[in-house]
Amino acid sequence: MTQPIALLSVYDKTDLLDLAQGLRSAGVRLLGSGGTAKKIREAGIPIEDVADITKAPEMLGGRVKTLHPAIHGGILARSIPADEQDLKAQNISPISIVVCNLYPFASTISKPSCTFADAIEEIDIGGVTLLRAAAKNHERVSVLSDPTDYHAFLQAFQQGQGDVGQVLRNRLALKAFEMTAKYDDAISGYFREQYASTPESGPVQRMVLRYGANPHQKPAQTFVAEGELPFKVLSGSPGYINLLDALNSYALVKELQEALNLPAAASFKHVSPAGAAVGLELDETEKHVYGVEDLKEPLTPLACAYARARGADRMSSFGDFIALSAPCDLATARIISREVSDGIIAPGYSPEALEVLKKKKAGKYCVLEMDPSYKPSDIETRQVYGVSLQQRRNDVKIDAGLFENLVTKNKDVPTQALTDLIVATLAVKYTQSNSVSYAKNGAIIGLGAGQQSRIHCTRLAGSKADNWWLRHHPRVLALPFKKGVKRAEKANAIDLFVSGEVLEGGERAQWEGQFEEVPAPLSESEKKEWAGKLDEVACSSDAFFPFADNVHRARKSGVRYLAAPSGSVMDEECIKAADEHEMVFAHTSLRLFHH
Ligand code: 5GP
Repeated sequence: MTQPIALLSVYDKTDLLDLAQGLRSAGVRLLGSGGTAKKIREAGIPIEDVADITKAPEMLGGRVKTLHPAIHGGILARSIPADEQDLKAQNISPISIVVCNLYPFASTISKPSCTFADAIEEIDIGGVTLLRAAAKNHERVSVLSDPTDYHAFLQAFQQGQGDVGQVLRNRLALKAFEMTAKYDDAISGYFREQYASTPESGPVQRMVLRYGANPHQKPAQTFVAEGELPFKVLSGSPGYINLLDALNSYALVKELQEALNLPAAASFKHVSPAGAAVGLELDETEKHVYGVEDLKEPLTPLACAYARARGADRMSSFGDFIALSAPCDLATARIISREVSDGIIAPGYSPEALEVLKKKKAGKYCVLEMDPSYKPSDIETRQVYGVSLQQRRNDVKIDAGLFENLVTKNKDVPTQALTDLIVATLAVKYTQSNSVSYAKNGAIIGLGAGQQSRIHCTRLAGSKADNWWLRHHPRVLALPFKKGVKRAEKANAIDLFVSGEVLEGGERAQWEGQFEEVPAPLSESEKKEWAGKLDEVACSSDAFFPFADNVHRARKSGVRYLAAPSGSVMDEECIKAADEHEMVFAHTSLRLFHH
């Protein structure tokens, strides 16, 4: 048997001498690059220099050390006659163990004093090539890229009398590939920072964010590993949560527009919609409810969509992030200009609209322009507590076909109801689970997000829908607000009025002070009578209803059309409850959890 050869070339020399000694004692011939060989030789362990084999000295200040056919031929040769013949012809000996770890690129660039030239010099070339070559040929070659593996390797080497076994070689190869991948990630991350973070240098691939979810979570950035970011910043500077909202909400409005062929808008807060709608015309009452009756600019379909999205739950929408499916026009910008909002994403802006928006928040309003042709990759990955989770993106299409399995006696689904079922279902697709949403007139009117129990979602969404409906009550529309009461203050005051919150002391005085004449509370009978007038509401749930209580609760807020996946042991009970109320229930067989 020919004597096995190990090539050693390590930056981190931890436990190197023990390994060299162990290999030597097991009869292995050692080859080393400059510093590695020197250290081993100085410890009295015999080792040859790579340069003796290659007959080429290290050059370019260490940039070329092991890059030579005598080395890479020796590593890459398979145990097949043709390769063995090639080695023989070139007088090259096969190498069966490669020990290598890389220049510390990541830690070097993290030092504040690191210059660009320092970073460049820290890019290991030959070492990565050694690791990749050895890992590629792991059928024959063992690659040690981590000092913590030396001991176990030596033991296996001794026990197997020179053959550590394929299983160990496989694991070591994988580790080497992971190491080079991580190394390359650090390098491309650095160059993204240097070369692709400003429009002046070409397509922007990466942006620094002020901080992450919270101000103490620094540093923070957003990037794509190829191409360019699918949005441009036209004004302001988006934060981490802004982008979570922007990208989720844009995905929702794009799908709404595709499904219903109408412009769509969403008003997001904390990565769930507070409202979402398509651009159905508003009647006069709706204009009042949504606070757009006084606008001089005629409402375009897009403006109607945003008025509805913003108006569903005005409390939750305060300080929203807005998404539009179509280029923002002046009418829509005018509505936005009067609201407290954090930012907007849309596939374009008319010059007049942009001018209006850029003035918001003293010029700090975040305006993002989305590339409408952008296609996200099919696979999405994220990390939680250092562990990667990967899944196919939830790219399932929601359309009328989803609501064909009608399981109740009543099977009458008018066109408007179908539109509302699609709106409600698309909204839960982009709402933190558990979620239940109620929709009417092409708009979400109540949404329960992020509750651990389904009935709590159904109740929460129901109570929001109830408040939304009470805001249409003639007594609410006629509330005698004093001049000068701000829009947000009115929204709060109306919310307190319709929810019947009992106010005392200073809070009561403050509330009453906003009116010319203090309004009498809505009585229970007035509320009940009004609630009885709400009907034809659609409701969608992101997973099955575990109990019939959800169906009964939904009906109390005017729900006539229900959509939820089947699969509960209580399905029959839920259908029975829906039949009792003459509701239509579509079993969708599609779960839509979103996290
Ligand atoms: P040594 O301390 O033995 O002189 O150098 C070891 C380091 O050099 C290891 O981190 C190894 O990855 C790296 N290395 C090995 N061969 C080459 C080469 O040809 N070019 C460059 N730039 N680095 C190499």
